[in-house]
Amino acid sequence: MTTDPGAAITLAELPLRPELVGEQPYGAPQLDVPVMLNVNENPYPPSPKVRQQMAAAIGELAGTVNRYPDREARALREDLANYLGFGLGADQIWVGNGSNEVMTHLLQAFGGPGRTLLTFTPTYSMYPEYARNTHTRYVTVPRRRDFSVDADLVVSAVADHRPDLLLLCTPNNPTGTQIPVSVIQEIYQQVDCLVIVDEAYQEFTEVPEDSALALLPSCGRLIVSRTMSKAFALAGGRVGYLAAARAVVDACRIVRLPYHMSAQTQALARVALANTQEMLGQVEVLREQSQLIQRWLRNQGLQVLPSQANFCLFGRFTDRHAVWSDLLERGVLVRETGPDGYLRVSAGTPEEMAVFRDSLTEVLPNHEVIGYHEEV
Ligand code: PMP
Repeated sequence: MTTDPGAAITLAELPLRPELVGEQPYGAPQLDVPVMLNVNENPYPPSPKVRQQMAAAIGELAGTVNRYPDREARALREDLANYLGFGLGADQIWVGNGSNEVMTHLLQAFGGPGRTLLTFTPTYSMYPEYARNTHTRYVTVPRRRDFSVDADLVVSAVADHRPDLLLLCTPNNPTGTQIPVSVIQEIYQQVDCLVIVDEAYQEFTEVPEDSALALLPSCGRLIVSRTMSKAFALAGGRVGYLAAARAVVDACRIVRLPYHMSAQTQALARVALANTQEMLGQVEVLREQSQLIQRWLRNQGLQVLPSQANFCLFGRFTDRHAVWSDLLERGVLVRETGPDGYLRVSAGTPEEMAVFRDSLTEVLPNHEVIGYHEEV
């Protein structure tokens, strides 16, 4: 008899859904190291002033925590609408615990058995999981050789696969490639499915206002997804959102669990939004760090994909895992992701990037660089 109550049964003995057998929980390694450049976070914590406001807001809530929170998260959605601009109102905004949850709501409402989601790879590695969890068929088509997508590629893929949902990530994780708004418009006009544009990293681009949000008034099947986890420096708060026609929001409201946004999450996000200028205050620094590191990596003779986001892919290495481990040994955590041979590094503070550069300089002579991707 075991004394460990957790060992009373094994996963193999449980009636797990067959399609989940052998699956691993999603996630990059969460290691406590000095320089964390692996999940594209904003490395700057809130100022003491904002922290105080957050603590006060949570403190105030403690007095009514016996009550359910606002199920519609109305005030937060109003704040998000004001933040986005483009004439949007709260009823065109939907919000969830990270854009992961918002995207899941979309697939619960519009995907499901018999429905197909189409996207272009390499792209964000959670997309297949949203599909799996909602029993939606997941179909991918490779991006162009330079990892861009254009209207011809997308429209012909849509004709081939007849998706119910088309998912375009811009700037794309992990390549950093942007899709111009004009191309999104061209695509939209030639397809009849829902078009989801994931703009998780939009605030880091050169012209953040150049967004698919501008197309919403004339494009009822268009959905633009955003997050407060990246530029907005609120990854721990778990707030993602979308902007779309009211009807899309109404569909999400049908599938969401009641009270899905905790009172604390709503309050934290509202404090962050009340301090928008400050929360986004370091975006310019991070944009610059991203461009500087791309240039520096190229100068080391490495291949770097031109990125408009706060991260970039560099390589290619015969053994990227060995490079990843050598960097980790020096206290620098990057991400093993993307096409073969590449590593992804997020833009950190100038001090963090200096440590990254020094560490990579030390490590590089021990590894074989295989130059250009054969398809580039
Ligand atoms: N979309 C993209 C392209 C991402 O890279 C991420 C985070 N890595 C997300 C969505 C999800 O972000 P969150 O759930 O934290 O809002």
